[in-house]
Amino acid sequence: MKRTYPDYYQQFRCIADRCGHNCCVGWEIDIDGGTLRRYLRMKGPMGERLRQSIEITADGASFAADAEGRCPLLNANGLCDLIADQGEKALCQICRDHPRFRNRLRDREEIGLGLCCEAACRLILGNGEKPGLITEDDGRSKAAPGGAEQRWLDARDHLFDLIWTPSLDIDSCLSLAMSRYYGISRVPYTSRYWSRFFLSMEHMEPSWIERLKKLHDRKSQYMTIPPSDDDGQLRRLATYFIYRYAVHGWKRRRSQHNSCVAFAALSVYMIYLIGKETGDLYEAARQYSAEIEYSDINVEKLLDKFDRYAEEYI
Ligand code: SF4
Repeated sequence: MKRTYPDYYQQFRCIADRCGHNCCVGWEIDIDGGTLRRYLRMKGPMGERLRQSIEITADGASFAADAEGRCPLLNANGLCDLIADQGEKALCQICRDHPRFRNRLRDREEIGLGLCCEAACRLILGNGEKPGLITEDDGRSKAAPGGAEQRWLDARDHLFDLIWTPSLDIDSCLSLAMSRYYGISRVPYTSRYWSRFFLSMEHMEPSWIERLKKLHDRKSQYMTIPPSDDDGQLRRLATYFIYRYAVHGWKRRRSQHNSCVAFAALSVYMIYLIGKETGDLYEAARQYSAEIEYSDINVEKLLDKFDRYAEEYI
C-alpha cells in the first residue's frame, strides 16, 4: 500500500492548552463503535466518568458537551483528562485522527492536515514556498489506480504546476486552473453575491457572520486578487484545497466541469478577502475551514452550486 502526505505533515504537534480554538469546544465528537465498547467496559473512576459523559442516540454515540459546548473531559487548563489518565491510546478514532484527513484511492491512502486546526493552518500556509508530496510504498500495493482515477491524479499534478507557474501571479494561476478544469476562467459572481450565499449556509461562530456581513457591505467586486510578489501562502492554500478535493472530481457527475476546482478557487478568494479585511490570513483560513470545509452540508451546497452553474451556463 502506498501512503502519500505533504512534506510538512510530520511536523504537526497539537498545541493543546495554547490553542485559541480548541477542537474539544464547539464540535460534536462522535465515538466509534469499537471505542464505545471499550469505554463501556472500562473499570475505575475514569470508566465511571466516561460512561457519565457519553450520550447515545439512534444516530450513534458522542460526548455530551456542556452548556459552553466543551467536551466533558476537557479540563479547566485546556487539557484532556482522558489522555492524562490513560494516555493517547485511549482516545476514540476522531480524537486520535484530528486534524488529519484521509482520502482512500485504489492503490494508496492520501493523508493530510485539516486547515481548521490553528497549528495545522500555520504549517499549511508555511513560508510561502511550494510544498512537496511524499509517497511511501511498502511494496504491497495490489492494483494500480484505474483509468479515471489515474487521469485525475495526472490532472491534479498538472493543477499543482499551474498554481505554481513562476511567471504568473496567483490570480492568473487560478484563472488558468478554472479555465482548464471547470470551463470558465473566473469564479462567477461577485464578493457581495458570495457573502450573501455564505450567510445562507449553516454556521458556528457569530464572528463568522460578522465578517461575512462586513464583506457584504463593502463595495462589491469580482473575485480577483491584485498582483503581489508575496502570494506564496495563497498558492499553498490553493495547493491544499486541490490536494484534498480535486481527486474527487471524477466521482461527481460532470467530470468535464470539475466543481471541486471551482470550490478550491472560491475558497482561496474568500479567505483572501476576509484576511484582507481582518489583517489576519491565518485566522481567515482557519475560520473558513471550520465554518465551510468541516460542514459536509456546506461543501455539498457549494459543489452543487458549481455543478448547476456549469450545467446552465458553460
Ligand atoms: S485545534 Fe489543533 S492545536 Fe488546537 S487542540 Fe485541536 S488538534 Fe490541538
